[in-house]
Amino acid sequence: MRIDIAGVLSRVPTGQFIGGEFRETGATIDVIDPATGGAFTSVSDGTAEHARAAMDAACDAADAWAATDPRERADVLRRAFDLIIERRDDFAALMTLEMGKPLSESYGEVDYGAEFLRWFSEEAVRIEGRYSQAPAGGGRILTIKKPVGPVFAITPWNFPLAMGTRKIGPALAAGCTVVIKPAKQTPLTMLYLMQAFVDAGLPAGVVNCIVTSASGKTSEAILTDPRLRKLTFTGSTEVGRTLLHQAADPVLRTSMELGGNAPFLVLEDADVDAAVAGAMVAKYRNNGEACTAANRFYVHRAVAEEFQRKLAEATAGLAVGPGADESSTMGPLVDQPSLDKVGELVDDAVDKGAKVLTGGSRPDRAGFFYTPTVLGDVPRDARVLREEIFGPVAPVVVVDSDDEAIDLANRSEFGLMGYVYSRDISRGLRAVERLESGMIGLNSGKVSNPAAPFGGVKQSGLGREGSHEGLEEYLEVTYVGITL
Ligand code: NAP
Repeated sequence: MRIDIAGVLSRVPTGQFIGGEFRETGATIDVIDPATGGAFTSVSDGTAEHARAAMDAACDAADAWAATDPRERADVLRRAFDLIIERRDDFAALMTLEMGKPLSESYGEVDYGAEFLRWFSEEAVRIEGRYSQAPAGGGRILTIKKPVGPVFAITPWNFPLAMGTRKIGPALAAGCTVVIKPAKQTPLTMLYLMQAFVDAGLPAGVVNCIVTSASGKTSEAILTDPRLRKLTFTGSTEVGRTLLHQAADPVLRTSMELGGNAPFLVLEDADVDAAVAGAMVAKYRNNGEACTAANRFYVHRAVAEEFQRKLAEATAGLAVGPGADESSTMGPLVDQPSLDKVGELVDDAVDKGAKVLTGGSRPDRAGFFYTPTVLGDVPRDARVLREEIFGPVAPVVVVDSDDEAIDLANRSEFGLMGYVYSRDISRGLRAVERLESGMIGLNSGKVSNPAAPFGGVKQSGLGREGSHEGLEEYLEVTYVGITL
């Protein structure tokens, strides 16, 4: 399919979205197509001054929005959902253009991302407190749920739509107002989402969006504003840690969706074909640039040869090319530093003795492409096993028991996602229960679902997004003690 770039861009606003208006700033940020390495458009570049104006707008709108009927909030979210689905082609094209993933996967993200708005439109009308008798005496316990207050949301580039709707949906459902800051690589999708909210009838100031090339300085203006009540962040553990320090002084409520290093366990009795099919999704979805991406494969010796051979064959069959080409099943990485890092991790593993079973280099073409790679016999001190790869590289380690696989899997400061393949459901569940991970796919290569609680343990984060739990992150509980 050919993307009509000029047509799509003509519908996307480029200014800072503050108080219901798109404001140009005079300065611009180039938006790069990772498939060519060249800029294809630009958007306005915001500063701390725009961030302060966005906070003013969010605070001015806060009381009125918190006081709206839940049904009214639900209706706006539902209309925004409908508009995203109506504008599916545009959203998918924008994500492929600014982030690089194959168009079919961008369509998948449109549906996944929109669904957070529908899910939370349905949750908005089910916010409940409780009334109960105190265990001793005649007292009564009443709890009331209230919106936390103005929220600052910071999102990454890898899922430009869904990471935004996963925060905005529950915040609006709860009655909070929002300032959101997308990553500078992928501003277009978020700005187009703002247009959908305008068209859905969201009152001015309830959501505001700041795009900036200076994320630290600009965010600081919001984080030091005493009116801010909550910070919700999705991104790397390194940046999350910095933000947690900044959130400590004002004691902000925080939700942190951080980095992962997912182990993928293939137990002795696994269905190898199912494990390979799951691995292809868990590893290569989103060009390998997913926080849930399988990062380390621990495979039992009994099935290791067959698993590695079949995984390498399937990997070699991926079609590398621009995401906009319908034939491509693997797009480019997002930028040059990401490409350099993936190359370094592969070189380090190979220098230490890993075998390249397929791939292992860059294709000879423009853009930030890396050939999908399977590494066998990866030594346990290789960086590729410890660091988040964020690219299409599958390192395989052969193990001799479930205990060894689980022990190696848990030797990580991360705990976002894990995968277990076993034909024996009891054996699989025993492994699941011992893995230190917020989410686990049991005989499943993909678990993301707006109706399920998404989030990590250890240094992969704090809190959950999606599901009923996702709404609680934006609600405060007031307890009223009553004497009868
Ligand atoms: P990143 O470098 O941490 O950036 C994430 C966001 O933080 C971007 O909007 C970035 O803006 C902003 N940022 C960077 N420094 C900042 C600062 N000092 N103050 C305020 N904001 C700042 O992560 P990324 O490279 O975009 O995304 C990849 C990472 O996200 C991976 O580690 C991945 O695992 C993680 N992730 C986690 C989840 C999850 O749910 N757990 C989901 C998706 C991704 P600029 O880039 O414009 O500077």
